[in-house]
Amino acid sequence: MPEYEIYALRFAGPFTSSGAFLMWLRDWEKVEKRNYYVWCIKGAGETVIVDTGVSPDLAKERNLAGYISPAEVLSQIDVNADEVRSVILTHFHWDHSSGASLFPRATFYIQEREYHFWLKDPIATRAPFKRLSDETAKAYLASLEGTDRLALLKGDQEILPGIECLLAPGHSVGLQAVAVNTAKGTAIVGSDCAHLFRNYQEDWPSALIVDLVAWMKTYDKLRERASSGDLLFPGHDRIMSEKYPEVAEGVTRLA
Ligand SMILES: [Zn+2]
Repeated sequence: MPEYEIYALRFAGPFTSSGAFLMWLRDWEKVEKRNYYVWCIKGAGETVIVDTGVSPDLAKERNLAGYISPAEVLSQIDVNADEVRSVILTHFHWDHSSGASLFPRATFYIQEREYHFWLKDPIATRAPFKRLSDETAKAYLASLEGTDRLALLKGDQEILPGIECLLAPGHSVGLQAVAVNTAKGTAIVGSDCAHLFRNYQEDWPSALIVDLVAWMKTYDKLRERASSGDLLFPGHDRIMSEKYPEVAEGVTRLA
């Protein structure tokens, strides 16, 4: 089984959030810092990007602090976004999907359930969902339907030996996490299944919930798959850029 390395690339932040945003219905009085990331899985001659980050246009519109284009951050570890062939999109929230057009040659691996919800279900056009997504990215990903640049997954699926997409709903309808074979065992790039390591450690979700029952089952599933608790990686924790070896500006090696 091939082994891969996992890198976290910070492309924006830090931002200050209410504690109750990161730990649902708790920590009202606290504030906490978080970052925005994309991840890169490298090894066995393959490069797979997890999430696309935010496009320069949207970053400008939303005035994102500390923003650097994800394509530029990737170039720091010799990855050319123009040439990337595989992107796993964990979910459609704007901070994960809006940079899709930065990867013009990539095939996007997305859970069918997530894709259909955001692009075909009228509920996704209602205000709370609209606010979480990006119209430009949605139009871009809709335009790929029926082409070989879109792979819609029905549940858990290995896309390369040692890299498996895992359906992990709760935060969004069809979020997927990624199980990766590394030198330390199976690591999970969990994206927003947890905003912080603490969400996993304390078995407590963030405030952005579409299905809490599904989310708790997702925690069970991911814990079972990870070789150890410290190989469960969250979506926004600043610890990822502070406590792991830095290999380039804003890039750390998680495993
Ligand atoms: Zn997020």
